[in-house]
Order: sequence, then structure tokens, then C-alpha cells
Amino acid sequence: MKKVNRILFATGNQGKMKEVREILADLGVEVISMREAGVSAEIVEDGETFEENAVIKARTIMELTGEVTLADDSGLEIDALGGEPGLYSARYMGEDTSYHIKNNDLIRRLSQVPRQQRTARFVCSIAAAFPDGEIITTDGVIEGLIGYEEAGENGFGYDPIFVVPQLGCTTAQLSDEQKNEISHRGKALRKMKEELRKRMELS
Ligand code: IMP
Repeated sequence: MKKVNRILFATGNQGKMKEVREILADLGVEVISMREAGVSAEIVEDGETFEENAVIKARTIMELTGEVTLADDSGLEIDALGGEPGLYSARYMGEDTSYHIKNNDLIRRLSQVPRQQRTARFVCSIAAAFPDGEIITTDGVIEGLIGYEEAGENGFGYDPIFVVPQLGCTTAQLSDEQKNEISHRGKALRKMKEELRKRMELS
């Protein structure tokens, strides 16, 4: 890979940008957002897996900009609901429905499900698309249980109902730093950092 000074992260989500910048800080490259790169695009995420969707996003933005581009796709899989909301996590009950409503709907649907069967996981895939056409992907998972009520104010989305059994709290009760250390996105991103580092050392 030729020497790169900057990497684009294909998201419009400022929270994700902050997380990505923190984790990639010691890579020695500038990480820029789509807005900073002056690019916007409506991308149809019609892949059948998180990995496929991450690749679609990264490749589309790399082709528009010519920059090394990273993108992620993630979601919550609940075993007792056959993996729902899964790929549709953001779209579950409609994009504009509040997470308070979505979370309570999931709690209601699990009302008859005992604790040991309330298993769930957050999954994240990250793709990197390089201008020479190469694509690499990494992934990360955090296992947990769906709680009986919302708890915690931090994080976003389904965090208030996602209990980490070893910690006895939800991911919404962790600080950003604590969540990054154990989260699906943190794990996938640290793996991606090592992949990028290897390629940069080769150059
Ligand atoms: P996307 O990866 O931006 O397409 O979003 C996936 C969706 O999965 C989010 O909108 C949330 O609903 C859910 N999700 C993914 N990661 C997390 C997380 O760390 N906490 C809570 N919800 C998450």
C-alpha cells in the first residue's frame, strides 16, 4: 500500500467519528469524516450481512473520493427473536421511532422469556476499501442479555436494554471509554487498526 496520510470514515454519525478517532489515534494518519471530505451519498444498504453492507458503503465512498475509506455496519441480534432486529436494527419500527419505544417493544416481546434464554449480541463489521480495489474486513462481537427494563443514560440505541452479565450493568451504564474497550465496534476497529498498520509497514 502506498503511503497514506489520511483515511476517510464513511459515516454521518458524530458519535462514531469520535470513537473511531480515539481508537485510531496512534496510527499516525488523519481520520476525516464524509462532511470534511465534502462528500455526501445516499447509499442503499441492500447486503445480506453486516459485512456486505460495510463493504458496499466503503467501496461506494472510495470510488467517489479516491481516498482509503473505512465503513462499518452493526446491529443487535436477539436469539429468542430469531436474530431480530439484526440487519434491520436501525430500521426496526421505523427509523424515526424513538429508542425508548423500540426498547420497550423488545422487552414486551420477551416478557415470557426466562433470563437464560434472553441471550443477545451486538455485532459490528468494518470494511476498508483501497483505491487499488483491495477490500479488507474485520468484525467484533459482544455477548449479553436483554434486560427487563431500560437502565442507563450513556451510549445510544439499544444500549439501555443490553446487559453485560460479567459487569452486572447495561452498556448504557458504562462510560465511553469502558464501552469502547469491550464493544463490538471497539473490537472490530482495533483489529482493523492492526490490518492497516501491517499494510502501512509494508509500504
Ligand atoms: P449502523 O451500523 O449505523 O447502520 O446502525 C446499526 C444500528 O444498530 C444502530 O442504529 C442501533 O440501532 C444498533 N446499534 C449498533 N451498535 C450499537 C451500540 O453500540 N449500542 C446500541 N445500539 C447499537
